[in-house]
Amino acid sequence: MIDVFLTDEQRRLRAEVREWLDDAYPPDRVVALERDREYPEEFWAACAERGWCGIPAPVEHGGRAGTVTDLCVFVEEVAKTTISLATLYITATIFGSHALEICGSPAQRERLLPAVATGAVRFALAMSEPGAGSDFAAMTTTATRVDGGWRIDGRKGPISGAERAEVLITAARTATDPGSRHRGISLFLVEPPVAGLTFERREFAAMRGLPVDDVGYDSVVVSDDALLGAEGEGWRNLARLMDPERLANAAQAVGVAQAAVDDAVAYARARHQYSKPIGQFQAVAHPLATAHAEIAAARLLVYGAARKRDVEGPCPLEASMAKMVANNVAVRATEAALQTAGARGYQADSPFMRRFLEARGCELGGGTSQIQRNIVSHYLGLR
Ligand SMILES: Cc1cc2nc3c(=O)[nH]c(=O)nc-3n(C[C@H](O)[C@H](O)[C@H](O)COP(=O)(O)OP(=O)(O)OC[C@H]3O[C@@H](n4cnc5c(N)ncnc54)[C@H](O)[C@@H]3O)c2cc1C
Repeated sequence: MIDVFLTDEQRRLRAEVREWLDDAYPPDRVVALERDREYPEEFWAACAERGWCGIPAPVEHGGRAGTVTDLCVFVEEVAKTTISLATLYITATIFGSHALEICGSPAQRERLLPAVATGAVRFALAMSEPGAGSDFAAMTTTATRVDGGWRIDGRKGPISGAERAEVLITAARTATDPGSRHRGISLFLVEPPVAGLTFERREFAAMRGLPVDDVGYDSVVVSDDALLGAEGEGWRNLARLMDPERLANAAQAVGVAQAAVDDAVAYARARHQYSKPIGQFQAVAHPLATAHAEIAAARLLVYGAARKRDVEGPCPLEASMAKMVANNVAVRATEAALQTAGARGYQADSPFMRRFLEARGCELGGGTSQIQRNIVSHYLGLR
């Protein structure tokens, strides 16, 4: 594996999390988690106990002040087991810490960052709506001023980890005047249980170990200090959250792809047809060789972008390119792995099928591959 960007400490983190996952989530345990739609309680407890929740949080708030590269290392390794675990970590911990750092008030940071670092508080990010996916600014959820706070009405979804989150970062429209499409959006910290807040679980083909919900807001009232960042600045603040989100998503896709190809190579060595291992047929070997090389290239792009973010600050072009490339490579690689496994890959509980579906899922969150291409086109001066 080419990992020239990594420090010894990052390699130690990778080895530590791999050792724990191999022990706690062997393949049959992952099958049960996904089949029975269990919540990964042991994983979350380990994140809290082992200080993994604290990786993105600042030292003064009990965290490790880890870099985006550290987060990518962690997420890539976890995603090799299943993206149910990796997505829980991204949404609960990375979104929470980064959002508070980007636009949290001193009081919000003081209260919530230590709780994120210990794992006592999990975040979820409620941006999407049934009628506003890629076109996020088409949202219709509103927040209206009431005495001492705000009343939120609308429906969000699908939202990862929503029903188990202690804090839902909720984007809502606070201005409806013409020209306010992007500027009229604000963010709120909604902390269940709150009257009027309801959850309805969605049934997805993969990532079933993490609840993904539609969230109803029926006259949900929050206090003034629930406003996250300045009123009307929600779009701008979420845009600043997108670098870490997209890079974590890209690292996740690299992990899924590598795990699929590693398993497919083992299968191609063990499975015999025509009296020899199927891996000796060039038609089986070459797609896996191509996938292995493309994953290495995607990984270099992801860690190169993460390093740029750590050293120079915001890198929307590089984050979008990394997500686009890693997602596309992951779909191709997991499909090659699936084909290698023949009918075994097509079984309902097959890790090959699951990883293919996981790679397809990575293409959706954080902006689809087409939206990443739109962003890259914009930087090329084409849109
Ligand atoms: C498992 C899962 C978990 C999720 N978790 C969260 C979460 O935690 N929080 C959250 O806020 N959201 C979440 N989402 C929602 C996700 O962000 C959206 O699915 C995504 O933004 C795409 O929106 P959409 O599904 O409505 O597709 P649409 O926006 O309806 O797009 C449909 C198709 O049209 C294409 N398209 C749309 N507009 C354009 C354009 N301008 N140019 C080119 N192509 C275009 C898209 O690429 C896509 O292929 C989750 C989704 C999934 C599947």
